[in-house]
Amino acid sequence: MIAYIGIGANLGDARANVEDALERIARMPHTMLKARSSLYRTAPIDSSGDDYINAVACVDTALDAHGLLDALQAIELAHGRERPYRNAPRTLDLDVLLYGDAIIDSARLQVPHPRMTARAFVLAPLLEIAPQADIPGAGPAAAFLAGVAGQAIERLA
Ligand code: ATP
Ligand code: CA
Ligand code: CA
Repeated sequence: MIAYIGIGANLGDARANVEDALERIARMPHTMLKARSSLYRTAPIDSSGDDYINAVACVDTALDAHGLLDALQAIELAHGRERPYRNAPRTLDLDVLLYGDAIIDSARLQVPHPRMTARAFVLAPLLEIAPQADIPGAGPAAAFLAGVAGQAIERLA
């Protein structure tokens, strides 16, 4: 299954945390890293603290969607992720954005990620590596770019 993972960090050395997450994603069981975006810098929106570093990874995985979430949460934990309050600054945040063309709504997992169409820090890196990406139930990801044009985002070299 082809899945897309959103990566974000704004605590500690955010850039290093995102790069390390990409390496760990590449080593997840039954999973191959197919593509990764550039790093992007964005100001926090509903969150506080330093700027965020974001990226998106594309994986080909034999894990089911909940197994993929488990593996991503294990990587977050390895980075000491705590959840003191909603939208708190975080060393590492890994979200399942898309899992093939699946629509999932369980207690632990909603896919497509319900807020992805409203976030430049998701759409820009996703469209960099998957310009034709389709969001099940919503349509082409590219159609949502105009709606986030007001969100400042910088692609890092
Ligand atoms: P947001 O979801 O708005 O990006 P967040 O990433 O800060 O917020 P977290 O505290 O990281 O939210 O996650 C809260 C819970 O969301 C997780 O425990 C997880 O079970 C659930 N969740 C639901 N859908 C997803 C998804 N697609 N990817 C990752 N976690 C998800
Ligand atoms: Ca998130
Ligand atoms: Ca999350």
